[in-house]
Amino acid sequence: MNFELPLLQKLVDQFKKLPGVGEKTARRLAFAILDMNDAEVKDFAETLQQVKEKIGFCNRCGSLSEEDICRICGDRSRVEGVLCVVERPSDIYILERSGQYRGRYHVLHGVLSPLDGIGPGELNLSGLKKRVKEEEIRELIIATNPSIEGDTTSLYILKMFEGIDIRITRPARGIPLGSTLEFVDKGTISRALEGREPI
Ligand SMILES: [Zn+2]
Repeated sequence: MNFELPLLQKLVDQFKKLPGVGEKTARRLAFAILDMNDAEVKDFAETLQQVKEKIGFCNRCGSLSEEDICRICGDRSRVEGVLCVVERPSDIYILERSGQYRGRYHVLHGVLSPLDGIGPGELNLSGLKKRVKEEEIRELIIATNPSIEGDTTSLYILKMFEGIDIRITRPARGIPLGSTLEFVDKGTISRALEGREPI
C-alpha cells in the first residue's frame, strides 16, 4: 500500500512494527490518530515517550517498575519464601491474572540458549542466588516456557542450588510443549501451578 502522503505512510510503518499488526490494521490505527484532536494526540505521543523514560527494572526481582522496588516486591501481604522464576516481565502479568499465585517473582530476562550466545552470565541468575539466601526462600517455582531452552534453564537452576535445602518445582504439564505462557488461558495456568512438581 503506497500512500501519497509520506507522513501518513511513515505512521503506518511505525504501527506495523508492533506484534500482530499488519498493513490493514496499521492503516486503521493511523486514520484513528488523524481523527483525534490535538490534545489527544499530544497525550498519546507523550505517554509513549514517558513509558520508555520512566519505566525501568525493579532492583530486586527484575520486573518492570516505575520505582526502585516494584509493587509486588514491596507488597507485605505476599507469601514469603516462595519465588516464581519467569523469563520475562510480561510473564508476571499472565501469572497474576490467574490469581492462583501469592508469592513473589524473579525475572531471568531470557533463557539459556547457547546457539544464540545466551549463557548463564547473560541471565539474572546471580540476583536469584543472592535472593534465595537473603530472603530465606524455601521454594522456587521455575515457570520458564515449556521449550527446550526453558527446560535446560530449569535444570541449570536445579544444579545451581544442589546441596541447598530448597524445593524446586516446575508447573505441571498442561501448558503445551513449545507454547509460551502468553497463549495459555488462566484456568490452565492455575491448574499447572497447583499441580507443580519437583524437577
Ligand atoms: Zn520486584
